[in-house]
Amino acid sequence: MNRPINLRIPGPTPVPPQVLEAMARPVIAHRGPEAKALMDRLRAKLRQAFQTDHEVLIFTASGTGGMEAAVANLLSPGDRVLVVSVGVFGERWVDLANAYRASVDVLRYPHGFPFVPEEVAAQVQRGGPYRALFVTHNETSTGVANDLGALAQALAPLGEARPLLVVDAISSLAAIDLQTDAWGCDVVVTGSQKALMTPPGLALVSVSPRALAAAERATNPRFYWDFRRMHRDAVEHKQTSFTPAVSLLQALDVALDLLLEEGLPHSFRRHQELADFFRNGAADLGLEFLAQAHCRSNTVTALLPPQGMAAEALVKRLRDEFGIEVAGGQGPLKGKVFRVGHMGWVSREDLQAVLDALRIILRT
Ligand SMILES: *Cc1c(COP(=O)(O)O)cnc(C)c1O
Repeated sequence: MNRPINLRIPGPTPVPPQVLEAMARPVIAHRGPEAKALMDRLRAKLRQAFQTDHEVLIFTASGTGGMEAAVANLLSPGDRVLVVSVGVFGERWVDLANAYRASVDVLRYPHGFPFVPEEVAAQVQRGGPYRALFVTHNETSTGVANDLGALAQALAPLGEARPLLVVDAISSLAAIDLQTDAWGCDVVVTGSQKALMTPPGLALVSVSPRALAAAERATNPRFYWDFRRMHRDAVEHKQTSFTPAVSLLQALDVALDLLLEEGLPHSFRRHQELADFFRNGAADLGLEFLAQAHCRSNTVTALLPPQGMAAEALVKRLRDEFGIEVAGGQGPLKGKVFRVGHMGWVSREDLQAVLDALRIILRT
């Protein structure tokens, strides 16, 4: 497979040849029997990938569309919500909740730090009642993985009084363990273009019975994003409410086979091992991490540029001289970090190439 660019940004990620081939298959009728069979396969496989017994809705959108769908369906204007933000994507929940006129409390942590589950639970108890709690599982802007399992445990004593738990798992799902049902996640959002090894264009959104009940009650306007209609159409008619990106569905079908044949536990372990390999190599080069040691993400690493070198210059040299595409910093982190993705279809050789290039750049 000819790969002219070593695509090492944290999404979109490289797509395996079998998945690319599926993209090139003839387009099918979106209401025909073939599409219904495809939808049924996808629904079953997505449940496995999300570790849920409930429905995973498929929207033609980027990941942010799935996030907006969650906000539009769960909230009414004036609802009190808590957002836990550890970086740029946490702030996206703040912006979305504000756009839908929620009353937003924010619990913020400095860049490079994860949330502290006990503090989040304490804020829920002290500051609530909140309709919903919005969190980021893996903060792609800082390379921090939050301990969602521990948060679920900390919230468990609240029982049915706990707020709806809404998780941005766009850069973690399929690569880092996320037990949607066991951890009481009401809505989990991911995108096709990160660890799912599929081109961008699909937002995948799991909905618990509690989330569906909230969607019945909520008064925020929504049409394209309506969970109620999408859920009904998926369950009763095995289709999406509107024309889906059928080529992407065909691609995701193949990508999920690859994932499930590998097995989720193996995928989690592989991502851990590749991340360790890359982190050890970066540390050996004397590079410093933005994220604290105990919370470093297994899907993306944020590194500080070496002394005297601008992050943007480093990104440009990697691209121009080595054919390696890494990402710079986002928002307030622009110029302060560069980020290397290691999720989805990635090999040790892909990461060794980044380390080799960095070694040469550091020497010159
Ligand atoms: C990539 C990403 C998003 C945004 O997804 P889009 O597909 O660009 O809308 C949101 N949250 C996290 C954590 C991400 O990594």
